[in-house]
Amino acid sequence: METQLPILCYHQGKIMPLADAKIGILTHAMSYGTGCFEGIRAYYNADHGQLYIFRAREHFERFHQSARILMIDVKLDPDALVKMTIDLLSQSNLHTDAYIRPMAYKTDEAIGVRLHNLKDDIYIACLPFGNYIDVDRALNVGVSSWKRVDDNMIPARGKITGSYVNSAFAKSEAQMNNFDEAIMLDNDGHVSEGSAENLFMLRNGIAYTPPVTSNILEGITRQTIMTLLREDLNIPVVERVIDRTELYVCDELILCGTGAQIAPVGTVDHRPVGNGGIGKVGHSLQNLYFDVVRGKVAKYSNWCTPVHVEARQPLTIG
Ligand code: PMP
Repeated sequence: METQLPILCYHQGKIMPLADAKIGILTHAMSYGTGCFEGIRAYYNADHGQLYIFRAREHFERFHQSARILMIDVKLDPDALVKMTIDLLSQSNLHTDAYIRPMAYKTDEAIGVRLHNLKDDIYIACLPFGNYIDVDRALNVGVSSWKRVDDNMIPARGKITGSYVNSAFAKSEAQMNNFDEAIMLDNDGHVSEGSAENLFMLRNGIAYTPPVTSNILEGITRQTIMTLLREDLNIPVVERVIDRTELYVCDELILCGTGAQIAPVGTVDHRPVGNGGIGKVGHSLQNLYFDVVRGKVAKYSNWCTPVHVEARQPLTIG
């Protein structure tokens, strides 16, 4: 009888089965949210027999940026982190879409809130993963009563575990009010982002997205969409501050992120966006994006890191 290889992770400086990776209950990051992380996807292309990590290097560069903000010293540089991730996915023998969750965090089992004079560590976990948000229908979103954390409260440009309480408040409020997702405003009342997505608004043939100074996470998918809109769909992209009611009168609204991928919006605060379905640009972007991430578009193949899944023998028992 064949069994699956165990899913592996990197933890405390070594590769081990994910099920064996544990931390103590007093871990500083658990008490105080003093960790930062990444969410990376790998897409399986059955025709190529290959698993591609999407924009791995950019994610690990942002990982270092978040860690720097939190005064965490990540010993492995971005290239070494990419290499470690390839090894994990390859040795786990994953032949399916996967999610990669690197974390850098304060490991001390100590009481006392601070950032300095603490030990830190990283882990990288990989797991099989499908869609995080429905991408086959337009989403119904609502503007949240929760404001986005400000740069000098908890910097949104760092992907900091503690700041996800802010996202969780917004997401639960939205879903308990029967919306799919929340749009958060910043403290000045301007549009910032979704609970875990950046956004693009189409008005009169131009795509607008909030600037990096609107308390957004500097999204990798946001960067990808900016390139695809400009280079492939011939749509100009402008980064500028966006008002709430612009969302009520725009032609299309699109959420994007590693988890959400490309998620067009059908209504905002119960008002239809365009005709209330997936718009023309949203539709084209989805098609192009899903081809790009699976390594089907030659000019963007440098965004897709092949894992070269090794023909390792599955364990046999019985
Ligand atoms: N904003 C927030 C708050 C997020 O958590 C995410 C998901 N990482 C994004 C935006 C989108 O970022 P990316 O495209 O890099 O996944």
